[in-house]
This record gives sequence, structure tokens and C-alpha cells, in this order.
Amino acid sequence: MIATSMMPSLSTRRLSMQLSDTKKIRLNVTIDDVSPHTRSSIVPVLEYKKMLPGKKITLFIPTAHWRTVRQEVATQYPLRLSQNEQFCQQLLDLPSVLFECAYHGEFHGRPFISDNDELMGLNYDEACAKFESMLNEVKLAGLEKRMTMIIRPPAWRMSAAAIRAARSFGFALALIDVDYAKETYAGEDELENDVIYSNLVYPQNDVTKIDCDSSICYHASNWDKGLLSQQALEQLTTVLNRDNVQTVHMSELLAEKKKKSYELS
Ligand SMILES: [Zn+2]
Repeated sequence: MIATSMMPSLSTRRLSMQLSDTKKIRLNVTIDDVSPHTRSSIVPVLEYKKMLPGKKITLFIPTAHWRTVRQEVATQYPLRLSQNEQFCQQLLDLPSVLFECAYHGEFHGRPFISDNDELMGLNYDEACAKFESMLNEVKLAGLEKRMTMIIRPPAWRMSAAAIRAARSFGFALALIDVDYAKETYAGEDELENDVIYSNLVYPQNDVTKIDCDSSICYHASNWDKGLLSQQALEQLTTVLNRDNVQTVHMSELLAEKKKKSYELS
């Protein structure tokens, strides 16, 4: 006679069936505006590291973060990476296997016009000058090897000419598929297979309802409602600790996208 304790109970069997049937989901967690700004700093990233050991994340960094319009968050000068050694060292100290660093404009805004939309109104030459300046700043700061060639435009908007210019520098694109942003791309984004579109933005979308491979956007700026706050981190922790959810970098999603389109062609 077989001891009943050796037999998996019906509920255990059901559960293991459910687990093996559960779809694997890859989640790219991203955080924008990580910078030397005291109110938009690396702190939420360090909290993520503490609360979610072993989980991946992509950081989007302006190379000379400069808010000029809203007085509470404005600074007198641009916060250039090369002039903020401690911040750069903190980035270098993060293990690159887990923390991917990518580009989020130079200033983030258009000085004394807007704190956003830096890449929205640029023509091709202006965009090339902007990217040249960003890459020089990263070089000066000694972060060249730490940065991945992916760019996300501040406030998502980017002119078609800026998209063409970014591609000529070898940038892949981190964009969003919503009307107000898509209009500025004017179809240019769809011409190449080098774009990852975020499909979740905190707090507008509920990350706990995730049911497919996704890229979610949080913010480091503590004036933004999308801040990766302690509460947001706790919610994210419940999602990332699910057995079927795996964190990936944006560059991994891009590589897979390219591979798939190669196989189809
Ligand atoms: Zn931003």
C-alpha cells in the first residue's frame, strides 16, 4: 500500500500543472532622468538594487541634465556628467550585467523654453550636433564603455530628422506607441527594426496585470508622479518575484527583435 503522504495531492498536481502552463514573460524595467540632480538622483536605483537583488533594469540618463523653466527644480548650470565625478563613480559601481545605462538627451529640455521635448523640434544637423555633444560628454566623464547605444527622447517626442540622425550615430530607439508621440516620429520610426516601444508607464498602467513581454517606464525625478517610490517598488517586487517573470535589458529585447526579423526575411 502506498502511503498517502507520498502521493501529491490533487491541489498540488493542479498547481504544478498551472505553473508549467504559465506563460513566461520578459519584463524590461526602465527608469528615466537618473542624473546628478538632487531631486532626480540615483537613489531610487540604489533602492531597486537593495530590494530586488539579481533583477535587471535599464537607466535612461541625460548627459547634462538642466531644468530651467520650473523654478523649484531649476539649476543655475547644466549638471554635466563630466563635472559630477561621484555620480559617475556610482554608475560605474553598478554591475553592468544587471544595470544597463542608456541615453536620455543632453539637457532633457530646451533651455529657458521648456524642461522637456529636447529632441522634438530638431532638424538633421541640429540633432547631429546634439548627439555629438552627448557622446563627447560621456567620453569626458569616462563612461563610454558603460553606456549602451540606445536613446529615449525626453517626454517621448522626437522629430523624424532626429530619428534619422540618431540612427546615423548607431543609436537604437526607445519610443512609445501613443498618438501624441507617434505624430512627432512621422512614420520614420517604422522604417527600421531598431525600436522598442514601452507599453507600460507608471502609474497610468497597472504593472500587476502584465500578461506579455513588456517594457515599463518609471522616473527618478521625485516631482514626477511616475517616481519609482517605495510604494511603486513594493508593487514591482510582487511582480518580479513571480516564477514566470524574468527581467531583461532593453538591448536583449532589441537583439531578439533583430534575430526574429532576420529569420522571417
Ligand atoms: Zn525624462
